Amino acid sequence: MFDGCNMILPQHMFETQVLFCEEMLMETNYKIIAVDFDGTLCFSNWPELGAPNTKLIDYLLKEKEAGNKLILWTCRAGKALSDATRWCNEHGLSFDAVNDNLPEIVERYGNNSRKITCDLYIDDRNAFIDSSGRLTGAAL
Ligand SMILES: [Mg+2]
Repeated sequence: MFDGCNMILPQHMFETQVLFCEEMLMETNYKIIAVDFDGTLCFSNWPELGAPNTKLIDYLLKEKEAGNKLILWTCRAGKALSDATRWCNEHGLSFDAVNDNLPEIVERYGNNSRKITCDLYIDDRNAFIDSSGRLTGAAL
């Protein structure tokens, strides 16, 4: 039985941490994973593009292949957003939604909240309280 959270901690400050809490999984047969672009998927200097976070991309490709759903969750808009989605496609990533909830989520809750509903948020600005009560995260 699940009794806590498993963390994949970053090797260095620019890698993305993944906080996985099984108890947060919604009542679906797949996980919904929302992932940030700048500083997370791409080591970019907004609105420019940069080097890929290949470990994260590989992780997401495996999750997608396993039937889980991906949402690109970014502050980018307009050309900067289309550049990012094209960049992702060039790195093999496609998304089930971009800055939006999945249709089944909108239907389930009867609204489309601005906060993306998902099981995992992967973002270079993550922070959480660890088991000792200390605030920690890649951005700190
Ligand atoms: Mg970011």
